[in-house]
Amino acid sequence: MASSDTEVVVVGGGAAGIAACRRLKDADIDCLLIEARARLGGRAWTIGDDPRSPIDLGCGWLHSADRNPWCKIADAQGRSIDKTPPPWARSSAPIGFPLADQAAYLDAREKFYARVVAMAEAEQDAPAATLLDPNGRWNDLIGATGTYVSGAELERVSVRDLGRYDDSGVNWRVVEGYGTVIATHGAGLPVALGRPVRRIDWSGRRLRVETADGSIAADAAIVTLPSALLAEEKVVFTPGLPAKTEAAAGLPLGLADKLFLSLSDAGEFEKDSRLFGRTDRRGTATYHVRPFGRPQIEAYFAATLAAELETAGEDAFLDFAVAELVGLLGGDFARRIKPLDLHRWGIDPLARGSYSYALPGKADCRAVLAAPVDDRLFFAGEACSTNDYSTAHGAYLTGVAAADQAIAARRGKRSR
Ligand SMILES: Cc1cc2nc3c(=O)[nH]c(=O)nc-3n(C[C@H](O)[C@H](O)[C@H](O)COP(=O)(O)OP(=O)(O)OC[C@H]3O[C@@H](n4cnc5c(N)ncnc54)[C@H](O)[C@@H]3O)c2cc1C
Repeated sequence: MASSDTEVVVVGGGAAGIAACRRLKDADIDCLLIEARARLGGRAWTIGDDPRSPIDLGCGWLHSADRNPWCKIADAQGRSIDKTPPPWARSSAPIGFPLADQAAYLDAREKFYARVVAMAEAEQDAPAATLLDPNGRWNDLIGATGTYVSGAELERVSVRDLGRYDDSGVNWRVVEGYGTVIATHGAGLPVALGRPVRRIDWSGRRLRVETADGSIAADAAIVTLPSALLAEEKVVFTPGLPAKTEAAAGLPLGLADKLFLSLSDAGEFEKDSRLFGRTDRRGTATYHVRPFGRPQIEAYFAATLAAELETAGEDAFLDFAVAELVGLLGGDFARRIKPLDLHRWGIDPLARGSYSYALPGKADCRAVLAAPVDDRLFFAGEACSTNDYSTAHGAYLTGVAAADQAIAARRGKRSR
């Protein structure tokens, strides 16, 4: 253990925890980040032995890139930013989806999200599905793409929360991987890896943070655990924090999984193009073809479909993708694709999902989750963000905010 006594413990080493710990260190606060995994990054995770084509199994897009703090950090690390507009902001390949239909779908989708924004602060919250046009021809596809956004079906998603999401519409990528940037930002921080925290006892004058490998005394803690783990009380607080558990339960983690495939004779497809497996059902995957121009396909599965495939096993993802792609491109296509990588975030015990959404009526749980307790327990992580939730930059901003709260509280106590 790097230290058994510190001023501030940061629990969790994802984007929020790394941002918080760096802020504390820059302010000369004695701190220690404790992470259960053997690596930093959490749901930001770049893998791949070939430095020319790293794979982001978690976050990949610098959403709201024109105001995303990770862009500046990536720049300072000397990374290459790819500014190609994302496939969802352009027409898809007209395979199984004629361009006229695409225009009609995009129009219907835009109108649906305009209704969501207009109703965000209505007196009564409602499930987002209630704002679909009752006779809409494109409801299944709006529902499918809605699952990629929230990781859950629109019936489960709060209009208020969805409408509060602040999207600048600018989306970039990092060639070396988003996960690489985030993990590198943690280099040089005081970190204990492979040490799951089990309990945070705040009954005494000082906190006792119990880990699988002994306990740490601290004056304050910044907790950045995924909301699903807080809801399941995977880390026990003594005394308990029922308001936090309840808030976290209102913000479940939706599910999204990526399957990366290699693609032979890739040149026939346009770089960074997209195919929908089907346009007439909600349980379908979307296929990003030749991401960064690489001979690959990134298949994206979400919500109930992803959960069912996770239960069925890794091969089920490949079988599903092959069946959909063969349906679009013909039987021979199966021979051109091979599985590269997949991570099942739902069964990952240190995530239990991909990104948070709010259940109808629960949008304000984000502020409840983010609120400090007793000027000693601070909370961060993407689920704590009211307007940038579900993202790595939202996680960063909450981490910095929690660190600033902890720094102010520590300085206040020292000067007393
Ligand atoms: C498939 C997928 C695609 C995504 N795409 C995008 C995207 O394109 N753009 C985007 O901005 N975001 C995207 N996201 C979401 C983004 O990755 C997350 O919002 C962000 O990384 C969350 O950061 P965090 O610090 O809040 O949580 P986490 O990264 O989950 O960090 C929490 C940390 O706590 C650790 N932990 C858990 N239990 C314990 C314990 N008991 N003790 C100690 N440590 C513990 C975990 O291991 C983890 O490292 C995607 C996510 C997924 C899964």
